[in-house]
Amino acid sequence: MGFTSDSFRLDGRRALITGSGKGIGLELARGLGAAGARVVINDRNADKARRVASQLQEEGIDADFAVFDVTDRAQLLEAINHLEATRGAIDILVNNAGIQRRAPLEDFDPNDWHALMRVNLDGVFHVSQAVARHMIARGRGKIINICSVQSELARPTIAPYAASKGAVKMLTKGMCAEWARHGIQANGLAPGYFATEMNRALVDNQEFSQWLCKRTPAGRWGRVEELCGAAVFLASPASDFINGQTLFVDGGLTSVV
Ligand code: NAP
Repeated sequence: MGFTSDSFRLDGRRALITGSGKGIGLELARGLGAAGARVVINDRNADKARRVASQLQEEGIDADFAVFDVTDRAQLLEAINHLEATRGAIDILVNNAGIQRRAPLEDFDPNDWHALMRVNLDGVFHVSQAVARHMIARGRGKIINICSVQSELARPTIAPYAASKGAVKMLTKGMCAEWARHGIQANGLAPGYFATEMNRALVDNQEFSQWLCKRTPAGRWGRVEELCGAAVFLASPASDFINGQTLFVDGGLTSVV
């Protein structure tokens, strides 16, 4: 089929977004839903997942939910296999669940290191493997891994987070290396600085906020809805020959020193 504006549509496609009870994940669900996808909200808390899905339904989006923790392999395998068996194919996976921990590297608590890696990196591995097995059998699928400007750039007190997001960028290339031949496109989406709960400490810090606005060519924080265009693009047929890339949505931050 030649290119038309329909190449960006996601009608009839089911998208699972991990950690989508709030923040960037919720906004990405909204954006994918606006482009026609049936979205599946994931949260560890069943009441919250149900509430968020029904809120999206009220907004006119076809929304369902799946309850699992991305660090609990047995639980997520069961939930994903159940989704596939009872609702149908997961065509689009967005690995969004993530956490942040801040401390000087020399004092960083090893328990925090492991907690961070379990969610930000192991979680992407477990969920992607569970979903990709179904995608491979179908010969098609889209995987979007939420990376970060910290996939490329370090900052004091968040070295472990940067290590986890750098690893997700490389895991994205590994997915491309092994799964492209099965019709799967795996790409990274790397947000700059967006005001969500994860960044509350930074948003509340006037000195940081002023520094960030000077450091970012666009001169401001990102708005979460500004991530949706890139997510829809990477989930849609318009990006069928793009694989293993990481798209930075950062107001130009990673392009300048
Ligand atoms: P957020 O508001 O803190 O949301 C994170 C989401 O992940 C929450 O819904 C959280 O659920 C969920 N989550 C955490 N651990 C989980 C687990 N074990 N299993 C399932 N879900 C889990 O953060 P955000 O800013 O939206 O960040 C979303 C993603 O974008 C993360 O990967 C983050 O690293 C990345 N990112 C954010 C920014 C930014 O500026 N905000 C920049 C670059 C990258 P609970 O509510 O239960 O904790």
